[in-house]
Amino acid sequence: MFNRMIVAMLPVIPKGIIHKVSRRYIAGDKLPDAIGTAARLDREENAWSTIDVLGEFVEERSVALRSKAESLDVLAAIKDQQLQGAAGLSLKPTSLGLGIDEDFGTDNIREVVARGRELGVFVNIDMENSPYTDATLRAFRKLREEGFTNVGVVIQAMLRRSEDDVRSLAEYKPTVRLCKGIYKESRTIAFGDREEVRANYRKLLRIMLDAGFHPAIATHDDPLIDDARALIKERGLKNDQYEFQMLLGVRENVRRRILADGHHLRVYVPFGEDWYGYSTRRLKENPEMAGMIAKAVLLGR
Ligand SMILES: Cc1cc2nc3c(=O)[nH]c(=O)nc-3n(C[C@H](O)[C@H](O)[C@H](O)COP(=O)(O)OP(=O)(O)OC[C@H]3O[C@@H](n4cnc5c(N)ncnc54)[C@H](O)[C@@H]3O)c2cc1C
Repeated sequence: MFNRMIVAMLPVIPKGIIHKVSRRYIAGDKLPDAIGTAARLDREENAWSTIDVLGEFVEERSVALRSKAESLDVLAAIKDQQLQGAAGLSLKPTSLGLGIDEDFGTDNIREVVARGRELGVFVNIDMENSPYTDATLRAFRKLREEGFTNVGVVIQAMLRRSEDDVRSLAEYKPTVRLCKGIYKESRTIAFGDREEVRANYRKLLRIMLDAGFHPAIATHDDPLIDDARALIKERGLKNDQYEFQMLLGVRENVRRRILADGHHLRVYVPFGEDWYGYSTRRLKENPEMAGMIAKAVLLGR
């Protein structure tokens, strides 16, 4: 109840407070912050990462081109630091202009994926809200048809269409991140009930494994993690046939346990100055969010 009240108040809470309580979710403002985090995760935890330049829903071509240049800089830095085995790149398609014009956005994504291929870096196309699902999947399909294999995409278990989407991607045996989906969608296209989303997640993971996908199991939800672990065991999967993924700053104890059990796990490492949208989405998912904000407001920490 208190959490819901604070969620409703988020837009009027000063940005300084939001920044303070959401710092744990973001590597920093600059590229060296993200590269440093990826190197530390690799060195200290043997965890992989996928680096994301914060920014989304870009409406101007010049901003999309800047975002593309920043993504290219990430690829170069990964190569410079010889982190290609451990670090990849995640892209928000609308930050590269997919919402301005589909061809323009797809061309920008292609340029980044092509540079990734040259440098030996994997590039994942994130999935945003439903107005962009078709265009994002079309861009992914186009790149796969053109022969790029260093590219992945995301499927959201909350969407009713996802089973059809998974089946339609099967021919590529792709690397696909499976997550619940973070964006607010209408009940006509999305499951609204928590258990329905979980059930669909379990079903989609099985379809992916049956079809020879390399699934990235992206969740912090214990029942889904336990189910995936049981499935991996039951099917005798080797740890190069799947990976777990988690967000920076979320359930680090669970992350360490998964790694300690010999699974590969990739951490989503966002950085940049455009942190507000990402941070508020993360705060809304944090069950302790209301308390953290109240403390920051009342006690200044
Ligand atoms: C690597 C990765 C990439 C993603 N990429 C996308 C994408 O491209 N498109 C998209 O729509 N969504 C993406 N998501 C977000 C995803 O869709 C979910 O919104 C998010 O993972 C929360 O769902 P959950 O499965 O972890 O379950 P939840 O039920 O939300 O969380 C399970 C438990 O984890 C803990 N927890 C969860 N979030 C937080 C938090 N922020 N702070 C503290 N504790 C928390 C809580 O204890 C909670 O009870 C991604 C998630 C991950 C892990």
